[in-house]
Amino acid sequence: MMFALRIASRMGQRVRSRSIASLSALPDTHQMLQKTCRDFADNELVPNAARFDREHLYPAEQIRKMGELGLMAISVKEEYGGTGLDYVAYAIAMEEISRGCASAGVIMSVNNSLYLGPLTHFGNEQQQQKYVTEYTDGSRVGCFALSEPGNGSDAGAASTTATLKGDHWVLNGTKCWITNGYEAGAAVVFATTDKSLKHKGISAFIVPKETPGFSLGKKEDKLGIRGSSTCSLIFEDCAIPRENLLGEPGFGFKIAMQTLDAGRIGIASQALGIAQASLECAVDYANKRIAFGKPIAKLQAIQTKIADMATRLEAARLLTWRAAWLKDNKKPFTKEAAQAKLAASEAATYCAHQSIQVLGGMGYVSDMPAERHYRDARITEIYEGTSEIQRLVIAGAVIKELTA
Ligand SMILES: Cc1cc2nc3c(=O)[nH]c(=O)nc-3n(C[C@H](O)[C@H](O)[C@H](O)COP(=O)(O)OP(=O)(O)OC[C@H]3O[C@@H](n4cnc5c(N)ncnc54)[C@H](O)[C@@H]3O)c2cc1C
Repeated sequence: MMFALRIASRMGQRVRSRSIASLSALPDTHQMLQKTCRDFADNELVPNAARFDREHLYPAEQIRKMGELGLMAISVKEEYGGTGLDYVAYAIAMEEISRGCASAGVIMSVNNSLYLGPLTHFGNEQQQQKYVTEYTDGSRVGCFALSEPGNGSDAGAASTTATLKGDHWVLNGTKCWITNGYEAGAAVVFATTDKSLKHKGISAFIVPKETPGFSLGKKEDKLGIRGSSTCSLIFEDCAIPRENLLGEPGFGFKIAMQTLDAGRIGIASQALGIAQASLECAVDYANKRIAFGKPIAKLQAIQTKIADMATRLEAARLLTWRAAWLKDNKKPFTKEAAQAKLAASEAATYCAHQSIQVLGGMGYVSDMPAERHYRDARITEIYEGTSEIQRLVIAGAVIKELTA
């Protein structure tokens, strides 16, 4: 199957320059990928997602299989062990996987866009050979450590420090809320080398898990995406080789922001998957549930909900694919990625809410997936920039465009 995806990769390069309008009818390559991911989700994720959630279980076997399919390093070049597909492909795959299991979706998203993304864009050859190639097949995952107990949205106020001592950078501080933190073999960590420079004093570092002075804090007990781990990373005189600096000194904030621009397309796609699962759950139930002598799908009040769910979902999907297409075509996409994440995360919350309403009492209990979708959806409005922060990004860009 990896072979099939690689063929898709080569074919994909030929269709990359098509207009976004043609993406409403996906090219064959992307349809092939979509079907592969949809089948995988139906066979491997849908039957297990409730158990991963209930038992807070990291889906190790499924992540390995996703790695075999080429899904854990979709946009990484083949020479580094990746699949070499474009970002539209990544968005499509992320949606299908998240439709099956939002936890598997976020594990995949963090490895692809938050860990491998900055390493492939800013890492030198040696760093890529060491920290990219081993993180492409699902046997290992990486993580991205920006947030701290004292600052989340205000990422430029990092208080974790990095001090150059001889041939080593010595890190001190705590990062929190780190997805994949428990399983990660290495972390991209942001720390300040000069607090007086504020965000311009932040640099990015690659920190392997086994480094002395690097330990894990408590695993968070979350509302949703409970199959993925979230924990703090603690650095106490943690000395990493000088060559583990990622990019230029002082470029860390820029690396983080560029990484998050791309990451938001992944989270938008995760949200689309949750929204799609909610819609499918609602339609399936509405066709089967009889009230007042007929399936509730025949009631206009239920049909209105289905129509509104489907419309918000499709609008968000087009925004998401547009942002991915702009990235693939090397055009600015910061505003568009923020719009995609904002629209898709709010569509996911809306669809999950309405899905519970369509199911009535059955929506409120764990016998059906609707309540899990509702819990999973909520995080998409918070991580990789809250909805409030997305609105700031969008408004800033729009005002600039219209004031010029
Ligand atoms: C499950 C989970 C996984 C996560 N994974 C990661 C990860 O892998 N790596 C990582 O680095 N981080 C991760 N995070 C952290 C996440 O990105 C932050 O929680 C998020 O950015 C918000 O930061 P905060 O929690 O500190 O909230 P705060 O920044 O304290 O914000 C609190 C509220 O104030 C609002 N607010 C803040 N500033 C403004 C403003 N200027 N204008 C308007 N409103 C504002 C926010 O929108 C929010 O509503 C994760 C978080 C969770 C819950």
